[in-house]
Amino acid sequence: MKQMMLLTKKLLLSFLLLLTCFLVNTNEEIEKLIPHFFLQPIAAENKLNLDFFNDPLFFFPMIESEKVVYLTFDDGPTPQSGQLLDMLHQYDAKATFFMLAPKMKKHPDFVNRMVKEGFAVGLHGVTHDPNLFYRSKESALQEMVEAQKVLEEITGENSMMIRTPYGSIPYLLDSYRKAIETYGFQIWDWHIDSRDWELNEQSYVEKTIEEIEKLTQEGKHPVVLLHELNETLEHLPELLSYLRENNFQMKTLNDSIEPIFFECNNRCYEYGSEKKEK
Ligand SMILES: [Zn+2]
Repeated sequence: MKQMMLLTKKLLLSFLLLLTCFLVNTNEEIEKLIPHFFLQPIAAENKLNLDFFNDPLFFFPMIESEKVVYLTFDDGPTPQSGQLLDMLHQYDAKATFFMLAPKMKKHPDFVNRMVKEGFAVGLHGVTHDPNLFYRSKESALQEMVEAQKVLEEITGENSMMIRTPYGSIPYLLDSYRKAIETYGFQIWDWHIDSRDWELNEQSYVEKTIEEIEKLTQEGKHPVVLLHELNETLEHLPELLSYLRENNFQMKTLNDSIEPIFFECNNRCYEYGSEKKEK
């Protein structure tokens, strides 16, 4: 909804600007004609200075750049992370990594590479064991705080982005969410589960492309769940080259984007019990 509104604003703004170009000649006059309340959200979303809008040509690349995909990789870093980063560079793709504390300790060089090379880093906890992670709101929060500490010790980065093991549905009860959000963490789930870990050969790529196209037509910027697995990497170039050839920008998640997360809506229940939360 937010993206639709933004797109509408951008289109309206483009129309205004085109009209303005026919009527006036100077930047000052353009600035007077386009109210700043149109420009500010666009500037904020794209991390731009308002001066940027003084160049009338800016609209054309911005309209073209509407196709955005957020690739996210869970459960790393792994011995394959270096290869994965090289591959992403090759296709001019950025991505976000939700990582586990013990694996970050094991592969600190890869974690540092991610930060230095402009990828986004998020937290995935410590144990990845639903029995331990979802035992209480304290255990869930504590695992994320621990992962945050490890990330900060390695890189100096202090990430507030988290993804809970297996996603927030069904075990992240509302009381857990409250504790996590009160601490300041942002919960991220996904639009598209690539099912890279269970689908054979390249069928995960085909399925993911199909879903990305569908959501893009609905005006969304899909968040895609992938894993740092050998099987994923094997067919990832097919996905990356498709996205490049079809003018998708592959960007990192960040604080200025509204997080995508599943809500309980009576679907959450305690791990180990089939009883629904009241
Ligand atoms: Zn995971």
